[in-house]
Amino acid sequence: MAFPETRLRRLRTNAGIRRLTDAPNPDARKFIWPVFCVPGDTAKENIPAMPGQYRLGLNALLKEAEAAVLQGIGGILVFGIPEPACKSSDGSAACLDKGIIPSAVRALKKNFPELPVFTDVCLCAYTSHGHCGPLDARGSVDNDAALPILAETALCHARAGADGTAPSAMMDGQVQAIRKKLDGEGFSHTVIMSYSTKFASSLYGPFREANSSAPGKGDRKGYQQSFRFRNQAVLESLEDETECADILMVKPSLWYLDILHELKKRTLLPIAAYNVSGEYSMLHAAAERGWGNLHDMARESLFALERAGADIILSYWARYYGELFSGRE
Ligand SMILES: [Zn+2]
Repeated sequence: MAFPETRLRRLRTNAGIRRLTDAPNPDARKFIWPVFCVPGDTAKENIPAMPGQYRLGLNALLKEAEAAVLQGIGGILVFGIPEPACKSSDGSAACLDKGIIPSAVRALKKNFPELPVFTDVCLCAYTSHGHCGPLDARGSVDNDAALPILAETALCHARAGADGTAPSAMMDGQVQAIRKKLDGEGFSHTVIMSYSTKFASSLYGPFREANSSAPGKGDRKGYQQSFRFRNQAVLESLEDETECADILMVKPSLWYLDILHELKKRTLLPIAAYNVSGEYSMLHAAAERGWGNLHDMARESLFALERAGADIILSYWARYYGELFSGRE
């Protein structure tokens, strides 16, 4: 049967019919909110490049977390912005139990024991050169030297009570190194949500402003995935599955929906999409100029992630889930 008997517009006739046949909004439980934590209790610093997001001291973090929890979000991902004095060539201050991430984890788990708390496991905020691992004699990141430090960092976060660690350094073998370390120390229950396909992307600019984590020299193309190499982008995630990652991730999200969709066909693991700072901030920038409605654009973009196959959505919008989706069909 074809037109005129078939009329696809029939199911768009009115709001009630559309409501019946459209997919529902992504559930709040699927969202993880990434937060930036700084030393000090009460700090709540604006991040100019990321409107509505802040660098938070512990007490401020707990207040913001409460607002997010009340909206029913599924979890929090903690980034730490340490004192500059703790930076070193190998980033080993990332493993300190009194560090900013373990402190934030302890506070969050004490106040919100039911809320899954994940931690970013990387060294770039702790290295003096800003790369994600120590450098070798040639000045490039020494993959194998980074592994024990990353594993120790993950263990430190697990000891603080993190439900899951999220390794983001894009070192070969990092998931395996972390899994072995955690299992050997009695943390076989700690989840690994791997940044399994993390692209060397131009969309991280606002995050680097927030996290003061831009590399001092060079770029991260030697370890992060090239956006031009589709097969390897998929392989990166499948490799982490063989290393026993529990959750895979594609980062950034909106320009990589093809990779997300492809991966969905090739794995039974949950897939997270990281809706990165550039994706968040560009909508704010467009809305400020009157080029689109902020919430409409945000909803549409988040919906696309779920439609492409994301089981979990890491997004700065998670903090505003209620404003975006409540009462919206
Ligand atoms: Zn890093």
